[in-house]
Amino acid sequence: MSTTNTPEPDRLARLNELLARVVATNTFQQPRIPQLPLRSLDELAQIPFASKEMLVADQEAHPPIGTNLSYPVDEFTQLHQTSGSRGPVLRVMNTSEDWAWWRRCMATVLRAAGIGPGDRVALAYSFGPYILFWASYEGVEEVGAAGLALGGMDSQQRLHALRAYEITTVMCTPTYAVHLAQVAAQHGRLDAFETVDQIICSGEPGASIPAVRARIETAWNARCLDHAGLSEVGPAGYPCAEGGGVHILEEEFIAEIIDPASGAPAEDGQVGELVLTALGRVGSPAIRYRTGDVVDRHDGPCPAGHRGRWLPRGVLARSDDMVVIRGMNVFPSAIEQTMRETADIGEFRITCYTETTEMDEVKVEVELDRAADVRAIQTNLRQQLGLRVRIVPLKPGILPSSTDKARRVVDLRSLER
Ligand SMILES: [Zn+2]
Repeated sequence: MSTTNTPEPDRLARLNELLARVVATNTFQQPRIPQLPLRSLDELAQIPFASKEMLVADQEAHPPIGTNLSYPVDEFTQLHQTSGSRGPVLRVMNTSEDWAWWRRCMATVLRAAGIGPGDRVALAYSFGPYILFWASYEGVEEVGAAGLALGGMDSQQRLHALRAYEITTVMCTPTYAVHLAQVAAQHGRLDAFETVDQIICSGEPGASIPAVRARIETAWNARCLDHAGLSEVGPAGYPCAEGGGVHILEEEFIAEIIDPASGAPAEDGQVGELVLTALGRVGSPAIRYRTGDVVDRHDGPCPAGHRGRWLPRGVLARSDDMVVIRGMNVFPSAIEQTMRETADIGEFRITCYTETTEMDEVKVEVELDRAADVRAIQTNLRQQLGLRVRIVPLKPGILPSSTDKARRVVDLRSLER
């Protein structure tokens, strides 16, 4: 089914073990699971896709946590929820056993970034109920490094903490890495980054967009790596330090990449939606789960020959962020890449709308120090993406600065029609 160094019989045995356990008690999954055992990983395709919409509807019908439970409710010890920045909140539960699995998977992510004993890792997150904050914190301890939670602090206090604790690694969103570097520069506090060797980003495409990564690496004078995961699935992607992008942790996840419209496997070289089955998560399982993450299907190895399917550009976009303009798939990350290559830009906002001529149009409002860069950005977007875009220059600081997951696309077309 995909490139992996873990022998297929081992993964098949674990998959069958998971399915047998789940089908015994989980009333959400029972009707989805066929005759067991499966004889090959390809037979996983007999199981229909699951999605966030299905889990949300199930929780609405059976409040508060739905029926995707393989154990009695009282055996779950970890309660989390999705951020709600993209539609309804999904409540997520884990048993102690599943939480230990999260911890081990996060440790694999961190080891791939070279983190271990002697490292001091600052987590520049709000530490609300979003699972990634807590799983990252646990993973840091699992690899023998020291973790510092920077919840409840403003950026100035965080800069002070980085310096005081001689932090070696910072975990945050790419948007926040850019923002914190701006705050440090404005306040003459770049010394706060002196001991930082690397920034590990997730939550948005940024760290796998070369121009964004380069901007973070220059501003911090540190290496920038990406990883990926979902609350309702697990931390499935670990960073590729050599080639950029992320690898799927295939010892623990079975990955498929599908054409989102047909559900058929995407071809090598195409983009598609990532579908994941988590082998180690039993209590509230993710089986053939449509992540909504748009990724490249690239069947070859990464430049360093690491194990695990390689997603060269990480997560390109959320499928609900990808917009179709005049018949073309347009990724906000591609627009961002081209703009950052061309000029020193701040925050930006992409708006799709329909002209009176019934043509789809794209407007990009972007914070620019020099309004003279508008023409160069327009030219490069047309040459590199084939996209005619209206650029509206704004003074720096006009758009709301994102410190959490950034939402930078507004599609007015559905409202107009
Ligand atoms: Zn690699």
